[in-house]
Amino acid sequence: TTRRLTGFKPTGHLHLGNLLGALRPLIAAQEHSSSIALIADLHALTMDHDPARVRALTLEQATVMLAAGVDPDRTPIVVQSQVPEHTELHYLLECVAGFCEAARMIQFKEKSAGGGHVRLSLLTYPVLMAADILLHDVVQVPVGEDQNQHLELARALATRFNTRYGPTFTVPEGVRPEAAARVMDLAEPAGKMGKSGGTGRIALLDPPEVVRKTIARAVTDEVGEVRRDPEKQPGVTNLIDILAACAGRTPADPHSYGALKREVADAVEAVLTPIRARHAELAADPGYVREILAAGVAAVRPRATAVVRRTRTALGLLD
Ligand code: ATP
Ligand code: MG
Repeated sequence: TTRRLTGFKPTGHLHLGNLLGALRPLIAAQEHSSSIALIADLHALTMDHDPARVRALTLEQATVMLAAGVDPDRTPIVVQSQVPEHTELHYLLECVAGFCEAARMIQFKEKSAGGGHVRLSLLTYPVLMAADILLHDVVQVPVGEDQNQHLELARALATRFNTRYGPTFTVPEGVRPEAAARVMDLAEPAGKMGKSGGTGRIALLDPPEVVRKTIARAVTDEVGEVRRDPEKQPGVTNLIDILAACAGRTPADPHSYGALKREVADAVEAVLTPIRARHAELAADPGYVREILAAGVAAVRPRATAVVRRTRTALGLLD
């Protein structure tokens, strides 16, 4: 079985894009590969943050993952900060990473633009991400385009380390997520749906009336035809893709945008209803979710400590 890792930052509520682009592929992969679902809370500290919110979202994301079908017996759900080897390996990798290499990252440039206080952790973020991957001897990392450059850095660091200090890390490869790779924002379909920014987001726990309203308000165009055309009709294309991902079909009534939106709303509702119900059950028993998270740590810790031990020794630290 191939080891995979998918990360989620507790910076906001999980949304339809996270479900279709990351959670669903993760759940489907449970059949044939061993995955780790990482809740990357340390990454949520790289930008201005509210401590109570990060803590609440960490637990919420774990609960939503279980509700959506992540099987904790096959896929450990791991809170990054609860495996201290992440931070230890982060430091050790900083000793093979270059300052300029980190400063070149597009995401760093984008997120640090506009001045103000830039956290040093924002600069070293991709090194921590490399540590997340290398720590678990991960072979495959499903990545969207936005993470390509970071994955390349992880590969470069692993290769450089292995060459300089001897074989230590598995060099990971990036794989494209199988399902609907990118769900776009419903209000601004030029950009992807995200936890932060955008106004056309469907959170997995949004109540039904909010989901319907968000879809009813989705931006379309003046063309007046229900047709897949990402260039000229990004909004309509996004709705068609969401319908395909949620219901596995093309529009039954391909004549009006109103009808398309109703079909999409029904399809999304059919996907979200059981997740909401299961979430309500699980949320009533936070002790259970805590147990799952403790089991996640226990499942990955032996390998993580072995990898860190290997790294320390290779670097010349006294054991
Ligand atoms: P943020 O806006 O804080 O970056 P995000 O919505 O991009 O949040 P992440 O925690 O960065 O969420 O990503 C979690 C996973 O969900 C990643 O695998 C990412 O590729 C995937 N993902 C995020 N947004 C989308 C989207 N709109 N469509 C498909 N997949 C997505
Ligand atoms: Mg993101």
